[in-house]
Amino acid sequence: MKIKKSIDSYLNGFDLSSYSCKSCGTSGVKIWRNFFPEDKNLLCNKCKEKEIKLIGSWIPAIPVKTSNNEGGYLFYSFDSAPSLAKKWWKGLPNSPNGTT
Ligand SMILES: [Zn+2]
Repeated sequence: MKIKKSIDSYLNGFDLSSYSCKSCGTSGVKIWRNFFPEDKNLLCNKCKEKEIKLIGSWIPAIPVKTSNNEGGYLFYSFDSAPSLAKKWWKGLPNSPNGTT
C-alpha cells in the first residue's frame, strides 16, 4: 500500500494488511468505521458514502499500534487519538488514485 513516507513512521512495522475496505477491498486510503464499536465494518470513503443513509455515523478508523493485532485492530476514538496518529490518518488519500 502507498502511504506517504513522512507519515508512514507512526505505524512502521505494524501489520496493515487488513486495514482495507471490507466492501470493495481498497487499501492505502482513509478507512472509516461505524461509531458503534460492535460493528467491525471498515469502509473506504466511496463505500461509506453509499452506506451512510442506511447506518448512523462513520468515524475515522485510526488504528492503535499494538504489539499484536492478529485478532483485529483496536481503534482510537478520534478525540483521544495522539496527534501523530491523527496526522497519519489525515495523510491517507480518500481514493486509490490520490486526493488527500
Ligand atoms: Zn470501498
